[in-house]
Amino acid sequence: MQDKPAKLPLSSSFTKNSSIGRGKQLSPFSAFAFARPTANLNSPTSTSHFPNMSASYSVRLTKEHHVFSAAHFITFNRDVCERLHGHNYRVNVVVYGPLDENQYVVDFIALRDELKALTDALDHRMLLPTGHPLLSVAPRTTDHGPEIEVVFAPDGRRWVFPAGDCAILPIANTTAELLARYLGEQLLTSLSRRLGTKPAKIRVEVDENHGQWGVCELTT
Ligand SMILES: [Zn+2]
Repeated sequence: MQDKPAKLPLSSSFTKNSSIGRGKQLSPFSAFAFARPTANLNSPTSTSHFPNMSASYSVRLTKEHHVFSAAHFITFNRDVCERLHGHNYRVNVVVYGPLDENQYVVDFIALRDELKALTDALDHRMLLPTGHPLLSVAPRTTDHGPEIEVVFAPDGRRWVFPAGDCAILPIANTTAELLARYLGEQLLTSLSRRLGTKPAKIRVEVDENHGQWGVCELTT
């Protein structure tokens, strides 16, 4: 025959301080959480445990839908001109800057949407540079409608494209590096228009062929 379990005295100090039991008592951790000061949204370092340590911030966007498929050719070594070909480009972006009153560098949604608009504008286009010293890129209208005639001066090669199929870019060559710069400048302009402020620094990365990235950093 088992002894009846002894009744433990329920003193008030036991119920208040023990972490064992089913009562809604605060654990040491939840008590600490309640004790933490509320973040002051106007002071980026107000909750820092290291107020004297400098910090820098950035946001990075590497989304699968920031892509575009386009045709191009580049020239190099002065008189060498590639054959017309295409790439499935991908674009990543990093925006650097201080935290604003919302505690972020830039609104992710604004950055995402503005970059998507830029990549969409290049998608399924023939990329043509207007700043190339040896390439003439000339709009004209014929019986076939608006066209762009392109001539490479060193050997006289000539291409004609429907104007609506082309993206005319104010760059010297359609390298991944200069495409990154073009996108960066356009992105700074569109973000500035949308948000009313310009990021302190932006980094745009353009992949033209499965890991061959051209990168441009712009500091405003
Ligand atoms: Zn190429």
